[in-house]
Amino acid sequence: MTQRKTASEQIDTEISGLYASAPEPLGFAPEHDLRAFGLRREPGSLLIYSVSGLGGDSPMFEDLGDISRQYLNHRHEAAFISEGLSPPLFVHENERSSVAESRPVEGTFSERHMLDEDFEVIPTPGHTSGATAFLWETDEHRLLFTGDTIYLDEGEWGAAVLDQSDRDLYIGSLELIRELDFDVLVPWVARGLPCYQVTGEADARRRIDAIIARLRRGEAADARPPGSIRETGT
Ligand SMILES: [Zn+2]
Repeated sequence: MTQRKTASEQIDTEISGLYASAPEPLGFAPEHDLRAFGLRREPGSLLIYSVSGLGGDSPMFEDLGDISRQYLNHRHEAAFISEGLSPPLFVHENERSSVAESRPVEGTFSERHMLDEDFEVIPTPGHTSGATAFLWETDEHRLLFTGDTIYLDEGEWGAAVLDQSDRDLYIGSLELIRELDFDVLVPWVARGLPCYQVTGEADARRRIDAIIARLRRGEAADARPPGSIRETGT
């Protein structure tokens, strides 16, 4: 995968309309990187996830223009705030009180629904009670943003089951994700590269089935358990 870096280390992805912020090492597990993603779309550009180092002058905004909404997958992202960047923030109702401790919340949702014709909001509880995936359909791809519910570990798919996570709900959400039609996985956290991954129906199902099987056996669901992720709540 070729990923062109600009002077500010922002990555222009190979996916038309998708922009990745520079990788931001996770403090307690610096081999893991966080990223936010910009989505260029006609009805209004979106920002998905949160990081702390994304300035309003980031070159991605030259293409994206004004951000109409920012969506968080779940509450842990709220600890990472980019100063000077404050699009209207939307989170699941169950994440509101936690997120609102650090950022004003513009709106909440609790049900699966569409934003315009191309962006679907799909609650996937488990990692946290209001964790929510987003499915964005472009002319070329269907991108699924899974937060920490499925993250990338040097190209392998892992899940982050915390002490406070609900394992049964997590499994149910993975079963839901398994049935979604998508061909690009875009998590919040990735260890190494890629930071997003092109997939296909059979590949995605095989990988998700493997995670579900590990969870059902009561094992850690990580591809290679980073441990600290589960202990500290990211
Ligand atoms: Zn998390």
